[in-house]
Amino acid sequence: MDSTVTLSNAQSFIELENEFGARNYAPLDVVLARGQGVWVWDVEDNKYLDMLASYSALNQGHCHPRILTALIEQAKKLTLVSRAFRTDQLGPFYKEICEMTHSHSVLPMNSGAEAVETALKAARKWGYKVKEIPENMAEIIVCANNFHGRTITIVGFSTESQYRDGFGPFAPGFVTIPFGDAEALEWAITPNTVAFLVEPIQGEGGIIIPPAGYLKKVREICDRHNVLLILDEIQTGLGRTGKLFAEEHEGIESDLTLVGKALSGGFYPISAVLSNKEALSVFNPGDHGSTFGGNPLACAVAREALKIIKDENLIENSMVMGNYLIQNLNRLSSPYIKEVRGKGLLVGVELKKSAGGARRFCEALMEKGILCKETHKHVIRFAPPLTITKEELDWALERIEPVLCP
Ligand SMILES: *Cc1c(COP(=O)(O)O)cnc(C)c1O
Repeated sequence: MDSTVTLSNAQSFIELENEFGARNYAPLDVVLARGQGVWVWDVEDNKYLDMLASYSALNQGHCHPRILTALIEQAKKLTLVSRAFRTDQLGPFYKEICEMTHSHSVLPMNSGAEAVETALKAARKWGYKVKEIPENMAEIIVCANNFHGRTITIVGFSTESQYRDGFGPFAPGFVTIPFGDAEALEWAITPNTVAFLVEPIQGEGGIIIPPAGYLKKVREICDRHNVLLILDEIQTGLGRTGKLFAEEHEGIESDLTLVGKALSGGFYPISAVLSNKEALSVFNPGDHGSTFGGNPLACAVAREALKIIKDENLIENSMVMGNYLIQNLNRLSSPYIKEVRGKGLLVGVELKKSAGGARRFCEALMEKGILCKETHKHVIRFAPPLTITKEELDWALERIEPVLCP
């Protein structure tokens, strides 16, 4: 029997997803068929401005022609050897990403969650081998309202009850403190603390920006107690906040930095742990790995995706366009807006509770040709590709205004 499906209208695609797929997402009912730059088109050829950019995985824009070429050229040559053998892509990728990010060492994985897991393993091993804490006593401090991914270890230290519900038992060894509170970190550290894992800005948590000076204090506290600072820059990194990394806003350097999402410009799952100190050197052959991690296709894609961030001045554009967007959103006199906040092109519009949640505003924006998604019920996140122009932002603002200021 021929089970190939030919469909044209949106509803039939939605029905297929609903019939055969696990219901672990609640997407907006827009069925996309192609994308280019900041724009996407649905199956009925309606055009939308993508202001979510796949949670910052598309900093370089949809289907960037240079990344597409890199992908195709590499796919014709060699895609996977596993790490049993070496390739002519891995070393150059290592050198280029380390030089660009001022790192000493790198470990490539696939998803963001895997990069987080890798850093947790590195931190624990560093704790036992270098800091010499007693076996199985390692503690890692994390923040309330965090988002670091969806593995069982990671959701085990989430404070979002839905992320945890039904998935226990969880791994021990994690201690939760409030986000943005450096004093709480100082209090939570014990002789067995190996690391503090934190997002420079909480993205999924609602674009929460910590008080100025927070990361600087955190760095100083971690140094004083010989605790590794792990920054999860999977969402904030690679230009999103108007710097290559959000840590640069406070002039600090982490011990381990996690990147993912935009590392491939949306073509392929690629993540990495970047290390400035000895943390990654605790791994010996056989300690950790991934069949696809660091494969030549991933490396070729990531090399080009990183070059584009530099060649197209995406970091500066993120800063300039982000300021422009925030300024203009702040100018709206809306009965619904409680606060506009952001850094670079990571922007959150928090609505008053009386607005009844951000979802209906995202649906109304979709009708007008703007795609974005609510986060944490009351926040609309605007995070378009970093390639966006002033004209495109004006196009967006013209459509955002009537939705937020009826
Ligand atoms: C998206 C995200 C992750 C998880 O990445 P996946 O690729 O979805 O596993 C981890 N941390 C942060 C801050 C993220 O935004």
